[in-house]
Amino acid sequence: MSLTTAPASHDPARDFPELAPYARTVVRLHPRRGVPGPRGSHLGGPMLWPAAEPWPRCGEHEEPMAAVAQLTTADFPEIRFPDGTDVVQLLWCPDWHDQPHPEGWGQACRLFWRRAAEVTDLLTEQPRSEDPDPDMVPRPCVLHPERLTEYPCVEELPAGPARRYEAWLAARNLPDDVSAIPGYKLGGSMTWGVTDRPERLECEACRAPLELFLQFDTSEYGLGSWGPEGTPDRFWPLEERGLEPHTDAWWAALEPTGMTIGRGGHAGLFVCSADPRHPASHFTQ
Ligand SMILES: [Zn+2]
Ligand SMILES: [Zn+2]
Repeated sequence: MSLTTAPASHDPARDFPELAPYARTVVRLHPRRGVPGPRGSHLGGPMLWPAAEPWPRCGEHEEPMAAVAQLTTADFPEIRFPDGTDVVQLLWCPDWHDQPHPEGWGQACRLFWRRAAEVTDLLTEQPRSEDPDPDMVPRPCVLHPERLTEYPCVEELPAGPARRYEAWLAARNLPDDVSAIPGYKLGGSMTWGVTDRPERLECEACRAPLELFLQFDTSEYGLGSWGPEGTPDRFWPLEERGLEPHTDAWWAALEPTGMTIGRGGHAGLFVCSADPRHPASHFTQ
């Protein structure tokens, strides 16, 4: 199955060339509920975990961590895997911790970088919490990656281009449907509507800039219309526009992981741009 984002209402590279240098490629993950395997990329599925390696626990809550995401270089060559690794796994504590990187945060949210070929004896029974919080543990989903061009959110642009671009959109009554793409994605930028974007987004270990690694989102697209004449949100995949509204299948497409992020918003896991093995930071909006 492939899932396709509709064309944008405009193309900055052609229509507003001042933004062209800021274009970058992001990957919409398009998670959808399914039965992922331990060697594939997924959210909430079984991890490629060595039987001999203890399953991590949160130091604060004594709870086994929850399997959140596993991504392979075969599916996501754009991830900067440390030398000798080709799969990355995200596990976090299913209980609440302060954000983004309090003391001990490294115990609450961990990335594991592995070499798949080295994991021959797999852990088959993965520990789970007795009564997992559905907002902290994603439903098992397979991924349908789609590459898109994205532009930075206004907070990340220099003030001049940001102001001129907003005025350009307003004069034409066009939506900004090219920056800070919603839904689960790799890379790019996210919007900061609840708190201001921190003035300095930097690694606590080495002070290098942090970059958005993985965005989590309550909904994959908006339900309102964005463009003129009731044009649907471009992020509603073309293949799913025939689903009967408010049926289980429609909800599963809109909110595939079943996690409500913050108060129905989104969150970003940020990693160090110099070394992704440094402790990650998590910001919820
Ligand atoms: Zn914890
Ligand atoms: Zn660092």
